Amino acid sequence: MNPSHDTTPAAAHGSVLVINSGSSSVKYQLVDPVGGEALASGIVERIGSQDALLSHKHAGTSTKLTEPIADHGQALRRVMELFAEHGPDLAEADVVAVGHRVVQGGDVFDGPALIDDAVVEAIEALSPLAPLHNPANARGIQVARELFPDVPQVAVFDSAFFRTLPDAAATYAIPLDVAAKYSIRRYGAHGTSHQYVAAEVARLVGRPIEELNQIVLHLGNGASASAIKGGVAVETSMGLTPLEGLVMGTRSGDIDPGVIFHLHRNAGMSIDDIDNLLNRESGLKGMSGENDFRALHDLIAAGDKDAALALDVYIHRLRKYIGAYQAVLGRVDVIAFTAGVGENDDIVRAKVLTGLADLGIEVDLERNDGRKSAATVISPDGAKVLVLVVPTAEELAIARQTVATIEATEV
Ligand code: ADP
Repeated sequence: MNPSHDTTPAAAHGSVLVINSGSSSVKYQLVDPVGGEALASGIVERIGSQDALLSHKHAGTSTKLTEPIADHGQALRRVMELFAEHGPDLAEADVVAVGHRVVQGGDVFDGPALIDDAVVEAIEALSPLAPLHNPANARGIQVARELFPDVPQVAVFDSAFFRTLPDAAATYAIPLDVAAKYSIRRYGAHGTSHQYVAAEVARLVGRPIEELNQIVLHLGNGASASAIKGGVAVETSMGLTPLEGLVMGTRSGDIDPGVIFHLHRNAGMSIDDIDNLLNRESGLKGMSGENDFRALHDLIAAGDKDAALALDVYIHRLRKYIGAYQAVLGRVDVIAFTAGVGENDDIVRAKVLTGLADLGIEVDLERNDGRKSAATVISPDGAKVLVLVVPTAEELAIARQTVATIEATEV
């Protein structure tokens, strides 16, 4: 997809406004769901502060502002003003739908849902499973419904793609009545991205998705792996919450739960302290002080031993998951890298893939070299496992699911 689309077409089929509402931020993108272009995009950060940051991109120009923004309502109203002032004209762009990213759909949603009062209530009711995300998602929906009262709106759930996980993968080995009572199971996250990338892989290699066993590695600031058999998710690394699994920018990923008891009993930390430590102060940042790979590589080049260890831990965990998912799938046809790190960091990709030839996994270092803004095969010709970089496009995927949901409802 080309985010720097430089005209303002009123697409004949209309456009979709995709909203990703976080606890203190709102990201948005106006998408042509058929052509795939981003007609405009932006973010409001630090909502609730005197110096909130607004950034609006359209037609190759970027507008950046700092001003007080009290709440999500004010943020989205300002976004509407930015569209009016800097384009594109929303009436001309013919917004036919609003698509919302919602993190946790729990056991309730196994696909996108046309939003009505009951859907908003259900999203709010799932808040105990995603206290940082679902209340903010619901707030964004509420405000968007006020701003676009006549436009249908759809919630697209990050967990929905993983509703197909077999019980053996989704069940934690705790008393089943406790798990049932407190809705404890593996829900996964980043599902929209894993699903989109797996479908893109099938399209790119020209084979039916039903024939492919894939491992998708979504490596952004948050990171997750999935095992996808014939287009159906059979395992994923994130769990009840996005804390489990791979090492991430600021999250620990897998950790012995005993560490939590140990910190509580011996370091006098409260549950909230430990929650904060593992979600926001751990991962690459916790080990090295940096959560961005560009800065991490600079530290390593300057001889920083903690940064080198952090990279080693990150790579080790990823390779462990690849091995585990090979066993889960039995046969792997494709490994696909995506998101900020997966698409841009050739050092990470090379380290993950090197030395696995006995497992059928090889990397062509020339093909791997550099950042990839388009889908690229990075394994050598004839390798048993096809390894690709596939740029993710979560907003486009949300826009397309939004349109499909509305069309299905109208029929
Ligand atoms: P999220 O959506 O989870 O915030 P992204 O998918 O945008 O994350 O990924 C952000 C991360 O991608 C950054 O923290 C950084 O580590 C990595 N990244 C972005 N650009 C580059 C680059 N050019 N080289 C290496 N890593 C990069």
